[in-house]
Amino acid sequence: MSKVVVVGAGISGLSSAYSLLQLYGDKIKDLTILARDIPGTFTSHDYTSPWAGANWHSFADSDDLEQIKRDRITYERLTELARTKPETGVKEYKLKLIKKRAAPEPWYIQERFVRDFKYLSDEELVYRNLDPSEYVGYEFTTFTITPSTYKFWMVSEIKRLGGKIRQLAKIDGIESVPDIVGFLPDLIINATGVYAGQFLSTFEPSEVEKVFPVKGQIVQIYEDLPFQLVIDDLPKDDNPLSYQFLNIFPRGDGGCIIGGMMKKNDWTNTVDEKLSERFVEICKRHTPELKSTTVYNSYAALRPGRKGGVRVGYSEYKLPNSNAKLHVVHNYGIGGAGYQASHGLSLEVSALASKVLGQPKCRYGSSKL
Ligand SMILES: Cc1cc2nc3c(=O)[nH]c(=O)nc-3n(C[C@H](O)[C@H](O)[C@H](O)COP(=O)(O)OP(=O)(O)OC[C@H]3O[C@@H](n4cnc5c(N)ncnc54)[C@H](O)[C@@H]3O)c2cc1C
Repeated sequence: MSKVVVVGAGISGLSSAYSLLQLYGDKIKDLTILARDIPGTFTSHDYTSPWAGANWHSFADSDDLEQIKRDRITYERLTELARTKPETGVKEYKLKLIKKRAAPEPWYIQERFVRDFKYLSDEELVYRNLDPSEYVGYEFTTFTITPSTYKFWMVSEIKRLGGKIRQLAKIDGIESVPDIVGFLPDLIINATGVYAGQFLSTFEPSEVEKVFPVKGQIVQIYEDLPFQLVIDDLPKDDNPLSYQFLNIFPRGDGGCIIGGMMKKNDWTNTVDEKLSERFVEICKRHTPELKSTTVYNSYAALRPGRKGGVRVGYSEYKLPNSNAKLHVVHNYGIGGAGYQASHGLSLEVSALASKVLGQPKCRYGSSKL
């Protein structure tokens, strides 16, 4: 029987923990999640998971088969949760996704992977103040995940399966984990988000410069909308910043969030109020359905980016002044796709965990993650 420590209680750490407990419940004696921030914390802009949109619209390039697989698995799982477990906060919505005609068609459109697919009419593009000779629109069924509802549900499932969660001060480095828990864990899951580089710096200093923040900013409004809207490349008339786009997602618990931006290497938590006003103006220009907007909050948060993309892999590190080794599976650096890839990623984490835990009690593909 093994002892597992998961560091990080964002969507990556929670999904990994849940998957491990489901697949290796008979082999795990103790699974403890350690994190500076846990679900219910709404004060840290560098704890990304509470602040996500969060919808599914895969960012994977057509030739990135690994990421496509993760996003596919998650789409299927979210379908099941939306239809059978409304308490998870996963809800089906139509997404109207609008792109420049010159942009490559996303893989899930090419393959008609997403359900209820159709093109938006030219009349609708004109209604949305967009030129149909320049823009193409797609509509399909996807999801909004209410982050806090979803994470609370996951914590209760993890506890039901015997897992524990402990909030503590930020850990200096992964080598400190045995001292903190008072034993040498058989397996550590590293799901430390934007701090993963620092967390590994003793053993892999090169990761420090690979992991970087991608700042986002969001406006919250009371008004509801019956669909999601994303415009990737805004028209010149909107005068957008180079890292700006439009997304508007209704939330399962009411109201909508409006964004957005992806600004790399900005660690600040400041909200640019002028930019928030611009988000709302642009949103109204392309969403005539929203006759009025009542803003009740704006916030900024950091997505965990990584050069080379998300790291899901296995490492062994020899502890200084000891013969003991840490056995580690990583799950960090997913950037803006932490929710929409979460089930695929956690299955990969579980597959790698078999190096330490042995074979799981059921096949990964048939598990109900
Ligand atoms: C505005 C915005 C909109 C987004 N929209 C979407 C969307 O629509 N769909 C989607 O899929 N994704 C979206 N995302 C991205 C998504 O939020 C992230 O990909 C995801 O939250 C990353 O989760 P994580 O668990 O990897 O990191 P985090 O949520 O940041 O969790 C990291 C955890 O590690 C802990 N930790 C880190 N270092 C240490 C340490 N040294 N010691 C102890 N604890 C530590 C933290 O306390 C925390 O618990 C959005 C993000 C933003 C900002």
